[in-house]
Amino acid sequence: MLRSMPKIQKLPSHEAQKIAAGEVVERPSNVVKELVENSIDAGATHITISIENGGKDRIQVIDNGHGMSPEDAILCFEHHATSKISSVNDIPSIVTFGFRGEALSSISSVSHVTLLTKEALAPHGTCVKLEGGIVQSSEPVSCQDGTDITIESLFYNVPARHKFLKKKDTEWRQITLLFQAFCLDYPTIHFKLLHDHKMVYSCPATTTITQRLAQLYDTALTEKVVALNLHNEKQNLIINGVISTHAYYRYDRSSIFFFVNKRWVKNQGLAKALLKGYLNVLPQGRFPAAFIMISIDPESLDVNIHPRKEDVLFLNPRTIELHLQQEVTKLLTTIAPQKNSSASLFAQPIAANERHRLSPLPFSAAPFAAQPSYKPFDFTPFEPARLPNTPQRFTPSDTAATQTEPEPKIFAVVATQTTINTQSIPLFSVIGQFNTTYIMLEQDGGLVLVDQHAAHERILYEQIGAQLTTVETVPLLFPIYIALPQEEIITLTPYISLLTSHGITIEPFDERHVIITTTPVYLKQIDFAELLRHLLGLITEHASLEQDQLFKLLNEKMQAQIACKAAIKAGDTLTVQAMEELIKNLYTTNNNFCCPHGRPTSWFIATTDIEKKFKRDYQKKKREDSFL
Ligand code: ADP
Ligand code: MG
Repeated sequence: MLRSMPKIQKLPSHEAQKIAAGEVVERPSNVVKELVENSIDAGATHITISIENGGKDRIQVIDNGHGMSPEDAILCFEHHATSKISSVNDIPSIVTFGFRGEALSSISSVSHVTLLTKEALAPHGTCVKLEGGIVQSSEPVSCQDGTDITIESLFYNVPARHKFLKKKDTEWRQITLLFQAFCLDYPTIHFKLLHDHKMVYSCPATTTITQRLAQLYDTALTEKVVALNLHNEKQNLIINGVISTHAYYRYDRSSIFFFVNKRWVKNQGLAKALLKGYLNVLPQGRFPAAFIMISIDPESLDVNIHPRKEDVLFLNPRTIELHLQQEVTKLLTTIAPQKNSSASLFAQPIAANERHRLSPLPFSAAPFAAQPSYKPFDFTPFEPARLPNTPQRFTPSDTAATQTEPEPKIFAVVATQTTINTQSIPLFSVIGQFNTTYIMLEQDGGLVLVDQHAAHERILYEQIGAQLTTVETVPLLFPIYIALPQEEIITLTPYISLLTSHGITIEPFDERHVIITTTPVYLKQIDFAELLRHLLGLITEHASLEQDQLFKLLNEKMQAQIACKAAIKAGDTLTVQAMEELIKNLYTTNNNFCCPHGRPTSWFIATTDIEKKFKRDYQKKKREDSFL
């Protein structure tokens, strides 16, 4: 069938504008970025950002900058309307964020806009309303000095883009990261951030980045950072900032920020160099917090490689990366507690130490010293009634101060499975414990080595899975307080039911703390703060998944994590009886050949193989031969 050749048509300018808008604005956080940059360019010292539904419904930015005249209040929405340059020749000398005059025209073409703006000396301000880039009204109003701009119904007229907006939480997360970046980059500006009418951050002007960190993050981080200062005159390079020490880690990269010549950038090379600097300091899969400001000759930098200027290209990236990596390593080495012990350099989750107690303080050293010793490993069924007296609310750092007998670290995690079907269990006899890590058994004409942690982990994993609906819980006499940054509490809130289903009752206490009031009976010495941080890391990492997929994944991961935390560890001394119980439990557990992470639980060495090693088979063969 013949089809006539489509004719070339010039797109109506508003359609072309909508397409171009996609370059500048892909998601709500891009809008926030453009608006806040305009406020900074306007010399504002107070900037308030108010977000609704992750920015999908409404974004409002209020500043006390120089405002606009009634004419400019309309002009600013036109394509290539800017007050920042008058010719291309000005570009190299600009000091402001914007200059292309594209942001407001692009944003307004795909949303509903309300602009209120007033210059300081003007008798009145102006209110302009636009829909899809078309001015609906413009009138004089009385309003505050500065600019107050509201973007509603983003992408209402571009269904394809609207469909690709992420979940509220995901968009909100991007906005908080951006907000943190602005706060760190401009400590002298008072920033506020509200979400769904609730104040999430209020950060009054400060002079130092450390004060800024204290406003944005909890003390778990701020007490564990060191300053980084490097000035290389030859290369005209200055690297300033703060980085977390070996004593802190996160499960994601969300606290790593780079600023190059005052612009927040996401630069892979810099991130890699930073992490290389932490090599052997943080365990695998853990990330530091780092806030790094790089100042470099603008000539050795290309800032136009990204349509939204989110990355930069260095003329000599390797030199800068090497400088950064070496400086980080140098800093961490000088502050490391024991340089000769690499193990001691590994991080402790710091939020764990952030547990606050209800006042009046329920604990003193005395009841703790009276702690029953579970030595050797105690497999007796757990008595929930005993829980309020047990010291499981104390973190390792608490115990270090009071505990006189630190080794071995033994605690009562119970295999709650009491009725073991002994018929299905092969005959075995425990030989002993090797290296306080492996249980040695004689069985089926061979020697079996069982990894005590992997085995217990699998047993608990299966039990937790099976008991999910009827998990036995114990109320805590003294709730566990955990400090978390506000945005993390918000991120966590929709997933609280997940924790509840695992027997952990958790609720927001105030803006910076959550409390745990009930725990499952099988969780005794678990570090809840670390568990929450792990969960938060997973939520961020898998934010793009569909809700039910994410829940399923988190559920499995939580189950594995709890099993891992609650299981006996390598290094725990076990009695013969405890070993027997563990092995019996293992043999009646599903999937008992490996732990939930896929490591084998046991290893069988046939007697014949042992004989071969001792050349006994050779002797035997010789004897047999001699009969021939
Ligand atoms: P650009 O920032 O690249 O100039 P924009 O589209 O972001 O382009 O803004 C257009 C113009 O509108 C700016 O050049 C500035 O004159 C004016 N403007 C925008 N936001 C503000 C604000 N918050 N305060 C004062 N003027 C503003
Ligand atoms: Mg701008």
